[in-house]
Amino acid sequence: MANCKNCGAPLIRKTTVCGYCQTVNDVDFRRPVTIAPPEHQEQRICPRCSCSLLTIDISGSGTLHIERCGHCFGIFFDSGELESFLNAAKVSETASADYHRITALVNENFHRDYPVCYIKCPVCKQLMNRVNYGRKSGVVINKCAAHGIWLDSGVLHHIVNWIDAGGPVLEREQKTNHLEQDTEYQIWKMKQKTDSWTHANDTDGQSLITIAKAIFKLLR
Ligand SMILES: [Zn+2]
Ligand SMILES: [Zn+2]
Ligand SMILES: [Zn+2]
Repeated sequence: MANCKNCGAPLIRKTTVCGYCQTVNDVDFRRPVTIAPPEHQEQRICPRCSCSLLTIDISGSGTLHIERCGHCFGIFFDSGELESFLNAAKVSETASADYHRITALVNENFHRDYPVCYIKCPVCKQLMNRVNYGRKSGVVINKCAAHGIWLDSGVLHHIVNWIDAGGPVLEREQKTNHLEQDTEYQIWKMKQKTDSWTHANDTDGQSLITIAKAIFKLLR
């Protein structure tokens, strides 16, 4: 469990605001972030606090800049920047999924600091879409199709953990299982049909199943 950096009190799970001293804790980045000169001409506004966002260098080498709020620590990634960050941070998918860790992550009640509502894009001020990251990661991200993604403080940390635990691997496995079950049903249906053909014999039915299985292999 994380502790408040100001007073040391334990933070309630999935909150970043301390219940004792009200300090907002910065939980997403392990090392201190560097403030960089603004990258965009227009002023970008925090959808939570309505103040100007700061440009920060999260690569440590000046290669990746994002905008962050200095009060609530929410972050805004331009389109494609989140993927670049995850690549640069070497958050790679593990070979197998850690079911217990993923279940624990997904069941965490995220995010307790804010009520569920639509918030405005820091750039165009239009309401953003709420999207489940990776469909089943347990966190919701706010997305403007034209400009990028807003993550409330702590969400990035959650996404990194979810990928590290093999969340995307598990999702693909589940998708394949559904496809497999569906294919088995289609094969069974075909078999019923061939059985009902008056002149069909077992050999025809079997070869049809072999062909269907070969097709399924190609699809995977
Ligand atoms: Zn505190
Ligand atoms: Zn803010
Ligand atoms: Zn926008």
